[in-house]
Amino acid sequence: MIDEVREFVREQVVPHEGLLLACDFDGLSAALEPLRLEVKRRGWWAPQVEREHGGMGLDLVTHGRMGEVMGWSPLGHYVFGSQAPDAGNIEVLTEFGSAAQKERWLGPLVAGEIRSCFGMTEPEHAGSNPTVMSTTARLDGDEWVINGHKWFTTSADGASLCIVMAVTEGDDVPRHGRASMIIVPMDAEGFVHERRIPIMGDEGAGHFSHSEIRLNSCRVPAENLLGERGAGFAIAQQRLGPGRIHHCMRWIGIAERCFDMMCRRAATREISPGVMLGSKQTIQNWIAESRVEIDASRMMVLDTAERIDRDGVFKARNQISAIKFYVAGVLQSVMDRSLQTHGALGMTDDTVLSFFFRHERAARIYDGPDEVHKAVVARRVLKAYGVRV
Ligand SMILES: Cc1cc2nc3c(=O)[nH]c(=O)nc-3n(C[C@H](O)[C@H](O)[C@H](O)COP(=O)(O)OP(=O)(O)OC[C@H]3O[C@@H](n4cnc5c(N)ncnc54)[C@H](O)[C@@H]3O)c2cc1C
Repeated sequence: MIDEVREFVREQVVPHEGLLLACDFDGLSAALEPLRLEVKRRGWWAPQVEREHGGMGLDLVTHGRMGEVMGWSPLGHYVFGSQAPDAGNIEVLTEFGSAAQKERWLGPLVAGEIRSCFGMTEPEHAGSNPTVMSTTARLDGDEWVINGHKWFTTSADGASLCIVMAVTEGDDVPRHGRASMIIVPMDAEGFVHERRIPIMGDEGAGHFSHSEIRLNSCRVPAENLLGERGAGFAIAQQRLGPGRIHHCMRWIGIAERCFDMMCRRAATREISPGVMLGSKQTIQNWIAESRVEIDASRMMVLDTAERIDRDGVFKARNQISAIKFYVAGVLQSVMDRSLQTHGALGMTDDTVLSFFFRHERAARIYDGPDEVHKAVVARRVLKAYGVRV
């Protein structure tokens, strides 16, 4: 199956990347719709979702392998109904949603009929410590009244619902227990989509964008609480474990694509008559280093996926932190070497490299910046030496 998916991505999906690079998002949606139908017809839709909810029900390791293959193209995950943040939101709704919430939101989300977003980060506070947040939700009769300001809400443009993280509990509760997740329909009164944030000059649209939003006394029914009151961070942790496997394997797919482009360029760029770029030792070093780093990344991530499948997210948390910063770093190095190998062409939008470069630098920031994950790993190591950090 993985081989067939690989062929499908390279032959059917990649040819549409030009629309993405040209920012023709209407044209892109229209072009991708038949591909999404074809993926459903072939039984490859929503690989990460359990079968009873309409997906393929793959375990984390197999989904990881498929994630790499889909990641070859920036359009891959969307075509297979496996894109962030919907994938994570589907997981949360499956595990913590009430029967009514599942009926209203889960079915259409899994089917790809609607999209969702996740609003936790606020411009005024350090997102790397989200327990400090200003967004509040207070119960007024049988409604939550939500006030807050969020940004980098990925895919909010055109989404139908936002899972909003808001403080619902008082100062008497420890910080980790103060916030709750609440489902906010995007057409609720008081929900304002302010703008799509330009990412290094590219504001994108629809699924391929990140927004700033405001909740101005936004009212939603009390039953829109997702899970228990005060359980927001516990649920978010649960969501992030498998999510990091998804991201890491997607990054490995991107790194493979950049690597392939680097090798093709090294093999065909003539720098003097009869002398190819690949004959230079620096380029050979980049190729060798990239090959080994990508392979090492894959082994680490699949090993972590296996551990999560076997022992659960909590026991694998150290490994999850390790792959998050290691693979994001490998991705950045390989992208940079590939771009450098392409010279001026690498700076243009004539290849997909510039899109990857613009949008994937963020891999070292979202879902926890490098430095936070390194601290987690180091703390654990030092503990064995009797040092408590
Ligand atoms: C492309 C993209 C998509 C995103 N999508 C979403 C989304 O859908 N929903 C959502 O809610 N948020 C989203 N985010 C936000 C993301 O989660 C935050 O950017 C991230 O948590 C970091 O928070 P911050 O940007 O406020 O940086 P800060 O917390 O201000 O940190 C800035 C820098 O300080 C350093 N630093 C931070 N903490 C430490 C520490 N403990 N030790 C040492 N150094 C440290 C790091 O280098 C870090 O990059 C997205 C961000 C990006 C870039």
